[in-house]
Amino acid sequence: MSEEKIAMVGTPCQIMAASKMQHYTQTPIFFKIGLFCMENFSYSYFSKMLETMDLTMDEVEKFRIEKGFAFLTLKNGKQVKISLSKAKTVVRKNCHICVELTSETSDISIGSIGSENGWSTVIIRTERGEKIIEEAIKQKFIKAKELTPSQLKLLERIASNKIQENYETIEERESKARPVLYVRDKTDESIMDEINVSNFDDLRANVINVGSCVLCGACECVCPEELILIKNTKPRKKRKKCPDDCHMCFAVCPRTFVPIDLRNDLTKAIGNYRKILSVKSLKHNEGQDGVVVTTMLDYLLANNIITKTLVVDKKEDLAWKPYAKLTKDVDEIVKASGTKYSVCPIFKPLKQIKKDVI
Ligand code: SF4
Ligand code: SF4
Ligand code: SF4
Repeated sequence: MSEEKIAMVGTPCQIMAASKMQHYTQTPIFFKIGLFCMENFSYSYFSKMLETMDLTMDEVEKFRIEKGFAFLTLKNGKQVKISLSKAKTVVRKNCHICVELTSETSDISIGSIGSENGWSTVIIRTERGEKIIEEAIKQKFIKAKELTPSQLKLLERIASNKIQENYETIEERESKARPVLYVRDKTDESIMDEINVSNFDDLRANVINVGSCVLCGACECVCPEELILIKNTKPRKKRKKCPDDCHMCFAVCPRTFVPIDLRNDLTKAIGNYRKILSVKSLKHNEGQDGVVVTTMLDYLLANNIITKTLVVDKKEDLAWKPYAKLTKDVDEIVKASGTKYSVCPIFKPLKQIKKDVI
C-alpha cells in the first residue's frame, strides 16, 4: 500500500470515477474536491471552430462563459464573442448525457454559481470535508458565510435544468439501444453480477463506441496488465487477451453501472450534503479563477493532511491543451488553477504510483 495521500480536483464525471476507484480498488486518492461543470468542449473541434474565424488557440489568453456567450480575450487585448449555441456545437457528446452539475460524490464541491464575485460556493458532503473546512476557517486560510436562500435557489435551478435537459437525451438514447448504463437503477448485487462477466470489450461496446466515454483515464490507470492506452482520443486496448478474472476497467468506469451509495439521486438537484457555504480565500489572489480550490489544496499540504495534489494544468507548448500532473508545489498549483474547458485523462499520473497501491 502506497504512503501517498492524494487530493484531487476534478469535474463531476472524474470525481465519480475516483469514487468508483475508492469503492472497487485500493487507491491513494484521499480527498476529492469536485468542481461545478455545465459541459466541456472537444479540444480538436474547438480549434477547428476557431480556424473558421481565422483564429488559433495560441492567440487566446482567457476564456469565460457568461450570459449566453463564450468570451475569448486574445493576447493582443481584443475580445471575441461567440454565441453559446455556436460554442455548444463543439461540446463533447458525453456531456449531453451528464446529470451532475456539482460533483455529488466529492468530499467538498466548489464552483462560482450562487456566490457573489470574489466568493465561491462550497458544498460540504462528507464528515472529512466538514472538519477540513472548519479547520481551514480557524487557521484563516478562508472565511465563510451562509448562502442566502435565493443564491441556493439559483444553484438548484441551474443544476435541475441540466439534469432535465440531459435526462431527455438519455431517454432518447436508451430507446435507440445506445445504452447509458450509469443511470440504470440496479441493485449492488446485480451490478456485481454484470461486472463479473465484463471486460474491456464490454466497456468498448457500451461506453466508448456509443459516445459515453468522458476520457477520464480511470480504465487505463487500473488495468493490471497495462493493456489500455489513451493518447489523444478514446481508450484503446492492445491485442493481448485479458485474464478471465479481470473486470477492473469495466468496474471503475464512471459510465458503467454505479453502486447505490454513489448513484445520483435525480430528485436532488445538487445531491446530498451536510452544509453549503459561500467562501472567500484569505491566502491567495482574490480575482483569480479557482482561488478557493488553490487555497484548500494549500491548506491540505501545509497541514500535512495530504502528500500530493492531482490537478489539471495547461500545456506550455500547446495552447489550452490540458494535462494532469501530481504536485506538492503550491506555485505549480497556482499555475494550474482556473477552468480548462476541455478534458484530459486525469488519472494518468497515478500510473506512476499504481504498482504500490493496487
Ligand atoms: S460529462 Fe461533461 S458535463 Fe459532465 S462532468 Fe464530465 S465534463 Fe462535465
Ligand atoms: S486486463 Fe482487465 S483492466 Fe485490463 S483491459 Fe483487460 S479487463 Fe480491462
Ligand atoms: S472508458 Fe475509460 S476513459 Fe472512458 S469514461 Fe470509462 S474509464 Fe474513463
